[in-house]
Amino acid sequence: GETSDSFAIEESLKELAQLADTAGLMVVGSTYQKLASPNPRTYIGSGKVAEIKSAIRAFEVETVIFDDELSPGQLRNLEKAFGGDVRVCDRTALILDIFNQRAATHEAALQASLRLFVALAQMEYQLPRLTKMWTHLERQAGGKVKGMGEKQIEVDKRILRTQIGVLKKELESVRKHRKQYRNRRFSVPVPVVSLVGYTNAGKSTLLNQLTGANVLSEDRLFATLDPTTRRVQMKNGSEFLLTDTVGFIQKLPTTLVAAFRATLEEISESSLLVHVVDISHPLAEQQIDAVEKVLAELDVSEIPKLMVWNKVDKATDPEKIKLEAERREDIVCISALTGEGLLEFCNAVQEKLKDSMVPVEAFVP
Ligand code: GDP
Repeated sequence: GETSDSFAIEESLKELAQLADTAGLMVVGSTYQKLASPNPRTYIGSGKVAEIKSAIRAFEVETVIFDDELSPGQLRNLEKAFGGDVRVCDRTALILDIFNQRAATHEAALQASLRLFVALAQMEYQLPRLTKMWTHLERQAGGKVKGMGEKQIEVDKRILRTQIGVLKKELESVRKHRKQYRNRRFSVPVPVVSLVGYTNAGKSTLLNQLTGANVLSEDRLFATLDPTTRRVQMKNGSEFLLTDTVGFIQKLPTTLVAAFRATLEEISESSLLVHVVDISHPLAEQQIDAVEKVLAELDVSEIPKLMVWNKVDKATDPEKIKLEAERREDIVCISALTGEGLLEFCNAVQEKLKDSMVPVEAFVP
């Protein structure tokens, strides 16, 4: 990793393990190494390669995942070094896998655009990594047809590029259609409040608590992939729409940042952004920064924001955290799990919406 802070590295590896778990893999162990610069051939040093190789034998490992993006050459060399059928992949490939799995299980209305953006990101990722396919082809041909692989890879690349072009056009038309649909669906103005935040911060739990909606909530990364909207009605008669968005994580692959923008369109149409933070997490500050960086890229600076410090029940010193929140502005402490602070949260949302000068753009029947 670029950072020399062991704690940050371990946290990042912990998150990677959680991602692997979400992808349905069983994690047997993790390791890291500090090098002045990564080995250009194998990313890690030869001693580390040997160490991992013996772990592969001992635990019958099928997959080795790297936390940083590997070059196609490094991927190939590592697969050769580990031997057998060991699959080597990086964080990006793992996230793409998860997106693919999640997209396959989601409801029809959003499936089309999700499928498209996953397929698109996957193809853009595959393009420079096609070499593996043609070496396989050459092996199949018994080495007799040398050069055949090179020709094949050119053909494959052309096909992929054409498919990418077609997908981009389709994605664009799905987005247009969804926008029209959204506009038609609504007839009475109700402000839209979007929940944003780091993955696992507790967005789905908060949405569930407030609306009784049955949004998937589990201790896994990417529990929410679809933006899901629910209507929150307050006792005083006022109401707002609460939207759960995809979670952000650090080191989001660049191919996905662009794709994310498409699914995060709803955010730019909201009257208020609620940034949910897992304040009990040791790296809460870094996660806040990661989310703010993505938000900055989304061009939503003029939308009012409210920060929510969630999981106060789990924090080591809840009283200190509450004092700190009071000292700063625009922060509400809650526990989405126990329900603590939820009324204060709703009131804070109401107050913010009153101040909001952003025109209401969404309408419900
Ligand atoms: P999301 O990715 O932001 O939608 O996060 P989830 O709502 O899926 O929550 C992730 C995990 O944190 C789940 O296991 C929740 O039960 C847990 N969680 C959410 N809110 C709280 C809270 O206030 N306190 C505690 N202790 N756990 C919480």
